[in-house]
Amino acid sequence: MTQASSSTAAVALRIEVFTIFPVAVEGYADVSILRRARDAGLLDLRVHDLRQGADDPHRSVDDAPFGGGAGMVLAPVPLFAAVERVAAGASGLARPLFLLGPSGRPFDQRVAEELAARPDGFSLLCGRYEGVDQRVADHLVDGELSVGDYVLAGGELAALAVVEAVTRLVPGVLGNEASAGDESFSAGLLEYPQYTRPATFRGWDVPEVLRSGDHGRIARWRRAQSLARTLRRRPDLVEARGGLAPDEEELLVEEGEVELLRQHGYHW
Ligand code: SAM
Repeated sequence: MTQASSSTAAVALRIEVFTIFPVAVEGYADVSILRRARDAGLLDLRVHDLRQGADDPHRSVDDAPFGGGAGMVLAPVPLFAAVERVAAGASGLARPLFLLGPSGRPFDQRVAEELAARPDGFSLLCGRYEGVDQRVADHLVDGELSVGDYVLAGGELAALAVVEAVTRLVPGVLGNEASAGDESFSAGLLEYPQYTRPATFRGWDVPEVLRSGDHGRIARWRRAQSLARTLRRRPDLVEARGGLAPDEEELLVEEGEVELLRQHGYHW
């Protein structure tokens, strides 16, 4: 069965994005994997202009902050109106609705998996300027999501990060079904190094094991690389999964990583 024909039976994941820059969101969602997912009927992405909720001639969505201070704040009246208008429409609003913001729940692969599994989809609300009126966070949305401990100028990039990370997990979206399961974070570990042709580039060789054709050896090497890389770069991830299992320690010893194990408190 082709991807297109299998997708006719699949229910598309519905994601709604509220933004003052729909063109920016639509532009990114019009290429590559998001475009393909939409064309295949696997992603139902609906982008809504927050300015639709404004009723003045300038379609204003922001105002000065009470109490003074720099910048502008997205106002509650147009934001509530824009969201409620969609909610009152024929297909309603996909809930939960999340506000994007640095104070939100950290968005990671686990959250992406949770969202990809939601049968009725979800919605995202992008802030701008100095942020949004607190009453939007308190009374309009169901939760907040942050894409990292840094401050973006607006929620659009954050929303697109969420949309793309979640869409990749929808069955049928990736060409090779196995590839999402093998990647960084899927099993609480970082991915092993990948190589392609040429086998030698500027004197740098692809590891011999990857050219051996021995699938058992390749799998063990990849597992060891993944464990070593995670321990070296993100020991917090190893700790979060309860440390290394005895057979994982032994694998790393086999691969000559005794010093790395010792550095991280393993007794070898
Ligand atoms: N004054 C806000 C603060 O200090 O938390 C930052 C506002 S930021 C300049 C404008 C908008 O960008 C936010 O309302 C939010 O929608 C988005 N944004 C910025 N950083 C983000 C992050 N790390 N994760 C998700 N959204 C973010």
